[in-house]
Formats: sequence, C-alpha cells, structure tokens
Amino acid sequence: MRKKTKIIPIFIPHQGCPNDCIFCNQKKITGKGKYLDINEIANDIKEFLSTIDTEKYEVEIAFFGGSFTAIDIELQKSILEIAFSYKNRKLVDRIRLSTRPDAIDKQILDMLESYGVDIIELGVQSLDNDVLYKINRGHTTEDTVEASRLIKERGLVLGHQVMPGVYGSSSLKDIETAKKSIEMKPDIVRIYPALTIKDTKMEELFKEGSYNPPSLDESVNLVSYIYSLYEMARIKIIRVGLQTTENINYDSDISGGPFHPSYRQLVLTNIMTSSLVWMLKDCELDELTVECDKTTINSFSGIKGMGKKVLIDKLALASIKFKEGSEENMVLLKFNDMEVTVEIKKFFDFFIKTYEEPGYVFEGNNN
Ligand code: SF4
Repeated sequence: MRKKTKIIPIFIPHQGCPNDCIFCNQKKITGKGKYLDINEIANDIKEFLSTIDTEKYEVEIAFFGGSFTAIDIELQKSILEIAFSYKNRKLVDRIRLSTRPDAIDKQILDMLESYGVDIIELGVQSLDNDVLYKINRGHTTEDTVEASRLIKERGLVLGHQVMPGVYGSSSLKDIETAKKSIEMKPDIVRIYPALTIKDTKMEELFKEGSYNPPSLDESVNLVSYIYSLYEMARIKIIRVGLQTTENINYDSDISGGPFHPSYRQLVLTNIMTSSLVWMLKDCELDELTVECDKTTINSFSGIKGMGKKVLIDKLALASIKFKEGSEENMVLLKFNDMEVTVEIKKFFDFFIKTYEEPGYVFEGNNN
C-alpha cells in the first residue's frame, strides 16, 4: 500500500511579488511579515521533519503563498538548496511550489529542475482576460497556457489554482475558466472561492457596492458544477475553500464572501443529494437505504444531517438509512424491493447534466 504524505508547509510571503492583485493581502494569508528569513525556513523544515515518522509517511516540502519564482533568483536558489539537500539524502520525497504563470519560462524551469522541484502550482485565478485585467493580476490567459505547456512538457506535476466568484467575473466566466483549465490537463487543482480579505482593494469595491460576491449557497452551487467538471476529467482536486490559519479567521480577517470552514463538505453534499434526488425523482418511495463507503455516507448525510434532511424532504421519504458497505466506488440503493448499483462518478455526471447556469454576475450591485 502506498504511504500517505505529510506536507511540510513553508509560507513564502509577498516579498518579490511585482503585483498587487485586488483580492490579495499576502501578509495576512501567510501570517508572516514582509521579509524572508532563510535560517527560519531551514529551522522550520528541520523541526517539522523531526515530528514525522518517515518509515510511515512520504514527505513533501511545499512552498506556499507569494510567487516563488518571482523572488530574487539567488534567494530562490538558497531556499531550494535547503529543500534539495533533504531530498538528496532521501529524507523528503518531493518539493512543491506555487507561483504566477508569467513567472515561468524555460530558464526558470531549468533551475527548478536542477533543484529537484517536482510539482508546480500556478495561480491561474481566471482564464478570462477581462477578469484578469479587472483584478489587476498582471498576466494574461495566454501566459497560463504557455506556462502550463512548458511545465507539462518537462513531465513535472502541474497544478492549477482557480478563484470562482472573484470581482469582475460571473458564473459563466468561472465555468469557462474551469473548462479551459481542464483542456490544459493539470494533474491537480485547488478551487479557492474568492473571499474579501480586509485591507484589500476588493474590500473597498465590496464596501462601495461595486463587488457583488456570491452568497454561500450560490457559491456552493457554482463550485459544485466546477468540481464535477474536474472530477469527470479525472483531475485530482486537492483543496476546495481557503484554509484558515492561526492568523486568518472569519471574524477578524475576512469581511465578505462565501467562507465556510467545511466548504468542500458542503459542495460534496450538494452534488450527491441533488443528483440522487434527480435520479429517484419519478419513483414512489417510502424507505430508502444507501449503502456505500464511509466518506460517501458523510457526503450524502452532510454537516449536521443537512443532506439527509434534504433527501427526506425532496423524495418524500418516511425514512432513510445509510449503511457502510458496497463495492469500491459504488453506491447501492435499496428501495421498493429493488436494488440499484450506481458508480460514484455518475453522481458528478448527473450534476453536470442537470445543472442550469444561474447567470450570477459578481460586478455591480445586483441586489
Ligand atoms: S501575485 Fe500573488 S502574492 Fe502577488 S499580489 Fe497577486 S496574489 Fe498576492
């Protein structure tokens, strides 16, 4: 059995980033000050590694935040040298970093490869040039296409990070972004629904009523569709929703937008329950038993049984039971003396087929 992975997260702050994206307050996101301290990075890696049982886990050093390949080249090398020395000694298995699409070219990739970097995540955000301009991203869709091509050409792992619900976008544009991203065949994706962080330009636009972020329900609805598209394209979705840190929490750092600490769970419950209701909508049901693995049961039943309530309500059930079992990747449905086995991926497929584009626009005050 393949070992699980433990990540050593190292946050690279705003330093070196040539831009000022309207949604970003990198200092708050990373929870660190403005300057990078090489010794601190070395110590963080050493300390973190000492807590990991390397017999049991694979280890990955991951440089998050900021724009890694936009920082001073000598500084990049010094940081990577630390990580590479652990990889060389087989104490870590992989090195990952995230950066801007316009901070990738052949020379940079030569350098990253020489330091053993395995995974490069691109902050794509949107693949609509008008949206990229409005959020002051400073790069274009074409930059993302080219950077993705160069990364894939080398056989490195390509990651995309997309930001549905950002200022200037719309549900249609966010869906188009996901489709264009899928065409580039990333290996992994992170879906970060846009949040309004304090002390940013986007907060100003929000306060003056020019930015109209989706409500939590609207966001979950849109992201459920985007999630299903990636799922059906077999692209691994490694994160949905912003990760709160000790230094960022809803009350003090986020002034608007669809934040939920279990955002992914909301999305999965929406997909599984909506599709199940759609599948069984024409059946006269009294009792329903759903048999599947534990994770899928959690998706159906939802936070505080919210999914279960939706199913009872919409299918007019007298009762519903969840039971652990069934074949891998399958859901067994028992009702009216019948048994029906459905592949889990069919639920994502149904969600896509039954989705009605809601026409959300995130610019201007729609209220
Ligand atoms: S490129 Fe990244 S670090 Fe720089 S302002 Fe934009 S989001 Fe923040």
